[in-house]
Amino acid sequence: MKYEQVTDSIALLKMNQGSNVACVALEDELIFIDTGLNTIVAKEFRKTMEKKYNKKASTLILTHGHIDHFLGLGAFSDCKVVAASFGKPRFERFVAQEVPESFLDGMSSVFPSIKVEYAISELSMPNMWVKERKTCGKKQELTFQVIGGHSECSSSIFYSPDRVLFVGDLIQADVYPYFGEPDTDMNKWINALKDWEEQDIQFILPGHGGVLTRNYVSKVRIYLENLIKTLSEFKSEGISEEELVKLDVFDEGYWPKKATRKPAFNFSLVNLYRSLNNSG
Ligand SMILES: [Zn+2]
Repeated sequence: MKYEQVTDSIALLKMNQGSNVACVALEDELIFIDTGLNTIVAKEFRKTMEKKYNKKASTLILTHGHIDHFLGLGAFSDCKVVAASFGKPRFERFVAQEVPESFLDGMSSVFPSIKVEYAISELSMPNMWVKERKTCGKKQELTFQVIGGHSECSSSIFYSPDRVLFVGDLIQADVYPYFGEPDTDMNKWINALKDWEEQDIQFILPGHGGVLTRNYVSKVRIYLENLIKTLSEFKSEGISEEELVKLDVFDEGYWPKKATRKPAFNFSLVNLYRSLNNSG
């Protein structure tokens, strides 16, 4: 199985579809972060890591309650599963199989295999809910922090010995970002990015894309700030939502030129646009 060794203690399984899966080897246990979409792949990664480090998986930490980050949860059903309490309703819907077919159809445009993955998933509820902050490990070396921003349940995980920060979708590398949730909070999001710009961080591991360093955080923060500014200006000029999604001013981002602008980005634009006051 091909994965990236980020530091001696951290391995990253990069996914093309669905979120990355990361493994942090502590003194006598393995902590996994997110699961990706595929239960079988997540199981294989867990097995590979348990063999490599000769330690058992104890805990799965979920960066937030978006399906592409936890659909493979069945690979960790015997572990502690940690998530932000704000995300509880999101998990409940999927675990109870109460997701309408139309939702999965919509998701298929972003994740073509999602219906198959959902059918073979072995979902259960997280069993450790965190309101604000929780530390893990014998030496409390791993800190889970509820942040909000991308979604109200968006959280970060910091591994202090290697100064590595896991950020879920608060940074989506090399793609047009998704910020279209009813509970997306741009202020919280930008403030979190500003905090990270000030912190001593060696590597940043995003939910999608490869390993980053701190300068990438600034690029994302500047893009989001400009985005809000531009949208506010358009709002005061009375630009319609239909016109908005046709404009190419939003295409100059921190992602490569070859990245595709998918319907999810336009959906995000419109939602953010609606949430802005005319006064900006
Ligand atoms: Zn997400």
